[in-house]
This record gives sequence, C-alpha cells and structure tokens, in this order.
Amino acid sequence: MNSFDLIIIGSGPAGLSAAIYAARAELNFAVFDRSAVPGGQVQSTYEVDNYPGIPGVSGPELSEKMRAHCDKLGVNFITEDIVNITRENDLFTVTTSDNNNYTARAVIAATGASHRKLECPGEEELAGMGVSYCATCDGAFFRKRKCAVVGGGDVAFEDAIYLSKLARVVYLIHRRDGYRAAPTLVSQAKAVENIEFITDTVVKSINGSDMVESLTLSNVKTGETSNLEVDGIFIATGIIPVNVLFGKLADCDESGYIKADENCETSCPGLFVAGDLRTKQLRQIVTAAADGANAVTSAIRFLG
Ligand SMILES: Cc1cc2nc3c(=O)[nH]c(=O)nc-3n(C[C@H](O)[C@H](O)[C@H](O)COP(=O)(O)OP(=O)(O)OC[C@H]3O[C@@H](n4cnc5c(N)ncnc54)[C@H](O)[C@@H]3O)c2cc1C
Repeated sequence: MNSFDLIIIGSGPAGLSAAIYAARAELNFAVFDRSAVPGGQVQSTYEVDNYPGIPGVSGPELSEKMRAHCDKLGVNFITEDIVNITRENDLFTVTTSDNNNYTARAVIAATGASHRKLECPGEEELAGMGVSYCATCDGAFFRKRKCAVVGGGDVAFEDAIYLSKLARVVYLIHRRDGYRAAPTLVSQAKAVENIEFITDTVVKSINGSDMVESLTLSNVKTGETSNLEVDGIFIATGIIPVNVLFGKLADCDESGYIKADENCETSCPGLFVAGDLRTKQLRQIVTAAADGANAVTSAIRFLG
C-alpha cells in the first residue's frame, strides 16, 4: 500500500521519536530513510554523555535502542532515498530514487543536517583519502600517525580527544583563539599530551597526490602561511540543514533551516519539521527527540 496518513522522512532521533508517538497513536504511517542503518548523525557519535538516563552510551548503541523500540511497536520502515516531494489538492506525493510514489495527507520532515565543508582546494579531491568528516568512522586509519581536526565546537573537541587515543599527534586548528565548545571538553582536551592547539588559523589547502600529505595554513592575524605535515584531516566546522526537498514548500531562515516553533508547524499546511532541520536554539539528540513527539501531536491535530 503506497498511501498513508503520515509519512516521516528521516530516521535520526527526530524521525524515530516521531515513529514511536505515531505508532502509539495508531496512525497509518511509514518512516523513510535512504540508509538502512538508523540513527542519522548519532551513528557517527563515539559517545553520547548528555542523553538523560544513559550516560556514556555509544552513538550506535543509542541508535539501535531507539530502532528496537520502534520495531517493538511494529513501525513500517522503508529504505529508499526520497528525491522529490510535491503537494497538490491537500495531498503530498513523495517520490523515491527508484521512482516509487507514496502519498500522505501529512509529512514530517526529519532529514536533519550534514557536515559543513571547508571549500578549500584538495578537500573534494582527497575526500576518503585522508579527508574525513567522521572521526569515529575513520579514526582507526590514523593509528600512530599525525592528523588535524578543524573546528572549535563540541564535535571538534570530541573528535580531537577520540583521535588522541589513536594518533601520534592531533593538531586542533581553529580560526579564532576562543572556543564554542563546552568548557569541560576544552579542559579535558587541554589535559591531553598529544593534542596541540593551533589558533587564529585557517586551512588554505589540503595537499597530497593520492593521500593527504600536508596542509597549507594561514594565520588570520598576521597573514603568515605555513605548511603542516599530516596524514589526515577531520573537518568538524559545523552542520548545514538538509532542506533540499522542503525548501520550495516551506519558509526557511537565511541559513536554510525550516522555520517552525516547538509545535513543529511550517508555513505549508500538513508539513511538519522535527530535529536539526528546523529553526531552534540547540541542535541535539534530546531536542530532536522532543520535536519528533511534538510534530506527531501537531500532525494528529491537523489530520483531525
Ligand atoms: C559527530 C557528532 C557528534 C554528536 N554528539 C552529540 C552528543 O553527544 N549529544 C547530542 O545530544 N547530540 C550530538 N550530536 C548532534 C545530534 O546527533 C543531532 O542533533 C541529531 O542527530 C539530529 O537528529 P535529526 O533526527 O534531526 O537528524 P539526523 O540525525 O541528521 O538524521 C537525519 C536522517 O535523515 C535521513 N535523510 C536525509 N535526507 C534524506 C532523503 N532525501 N531521503 C531519505 N532519508 C534522508 C538521513 O539518512 C538521516 O538518517 C552530534 C552530532 C555529530 C555529527
């Protein structure tokens, strides 16, 4: 059956939480994700230490727990990449890369966010050859080697601490001399012997023929350039919303996040947004999960 009351797109914490609430409300719905592995960004998180009740749980374990909860409730998961969504006569039609069409009266957009790129020479050419956006996925390749992490937020610090246990040395490169990361993470990293801090510095290019060999750095205060020999670079400079499907249907802010408050209602009737994709103060697992619940509550009200 290709017709639902509700379609949830994304099986990160927002989509999985929405699925739990939708199942308990006995809605006719399905959850779509292009990946068969649940959890979205949580899958690439080494350790989650701020989700209530399960301190220190690994990202994959938390994802599996959420998915198992959904499976217990009989949630219908469909592994397909959604490539288009239209709305006509109060009905959404969702099209997948296999050219399948599914319809629903309400949709919850929970496609989350993806990594921001440095947009410097060498980044694309050497992606997967020493350029990575996921320390927990690729860190093991840099055992006893030299690597750099770029960024100044929580993820950059978490990555640097994780990599310091594998790599010989980790350079943490940040364009300013202050950090956005939680003070506890900053002091934890500062206590690690093989993490070296390079501040007020940006990466101008990533160099290497087949694999990353070095970085060209530029000091933003002095303009001085330098060469840093590394075997790998982990880019942790933030996230951008995955709004490509919904940008044409609903209003977005200047950064591309879909405008919605806690009720998760967008400017498009029947379209609700949950998780990292919506305008909000804090993009975390706990807020994504809360959105999933609120989005379903709004969808139920909408469906009448
Ligand atoms: C390295 C890292 C560490 C983090 N650490 C923490 C932490 O310790 N604590 C914390 O609270 N938060 C942490 N976060 C943030 C947290 O993971 C996110 O806030 C949360 O995952 C957002 O959930 P979401 O459901 O909105 O989206 P996501 O987790 O981004 O999931 C979106 C899902 O949508 C799917 N999707 C996207 N487009 C399509 C499409 N066209 N068709 C089908 N499926 C699609 C994706 O495959 C993905 O599964 C971390 C993030 C990262 C990257």
